[in-house]
Amino acid sequence: MSTVAKAMTIAGSDSGGGAGIQADLKTFHQLGVYGTSAITAVTAQNTLGVAGVYPLPTEAVTQQIREVLRDIGADAAKTGMLFDAAIIRAVAEEVRAFRLEKLVVDPVMVAKGGAKLLLDEAIDALKTHLLPLAEVVTPNLPEAECLTGMTIRTPADMREGAKAIHALGARHVLMKGGHLDGEEIVDMLYDGQAFYEMAHSRIHTRHTHGTGCTFSAALTAELAKGKPLVEAVERANRFIVQAIATAPQIGGGHGPTNHWA
Ligand code: PLP
Repeated sequence: MSTVAKAMTIAGSDSGGGAGIQADLKTFHQLGVYGTSAITAVTAQNTLGVAGVYPLPTEAVTQQIREVLRDIGADAAKTGMLFDAAIIRAVAEEVRAFRLEKLVVDPVMVAKGGAKLLLDEAIDALKTHLLPLAEVVTPNLPEAECLTGMTIRTPADMREGAKAIHALGARHVLMKGGHLDGEEIVDMLYDGQAFYEMAHSRIHTRHTHGTGCTFSAALTAELAKGKPLVEAVERANRFIVQAIATAPQIGGGHGPTNHWA
């Protein structure tokens, strides 16, 4: 009998299929990994924006995680939209109870259109309860600014920000430079000692919905398959660049990056 690597996503549902749980499961599947999910909130959205956010009861999140992990298990897991402090604490408790080592924390905060996917008062809970459990945390620049209170505009700022986030307890920080000015994007991995920088040129497209979710899902899938962290990051990087470059026209707004031609 064949076996397959397994990955779990703990995140919000995007009815438009571009981000969140839907992007994660499609990405896991594309990378040959069996995907499971615990939904934290349901969003009503399309490529034009988020019209409604409906968090699930905390017990529903806990129960989904328990039922999946006690039977199916997970070689790696990721978190995305967690919405409030109670859900964050509940997720952290299950991550500890099931000793999930390969945890990717995507600190999702605000959708591109401005909708809040994490309440302001939950940011402290994310820092206190979840970051210390993360094998890798994947902030973009606005999220890194929120986590650190720093202004991050340049690769030099990114290095300082990554050190501050590492000090919160994450074992690795992968800071994404998509929000830098200019044509060159630098993504930066910091393990507490050294910086590993990956540069690529900007792809001009408005079809970037769900890019962060898709990237962290690809990273989780590669970790689930047993790839070492640097190789998993490089593979996830190649995956997301390709996904952005081939994003099809879907809907009238910011189309998704999670569909490969
Ligand atoms: N909706 C959900 C449920 C998400 O998890 C995310 C992820 O960040 C988003 C929306 C964000 O989408 P966008 O890439 O358009 O900011």
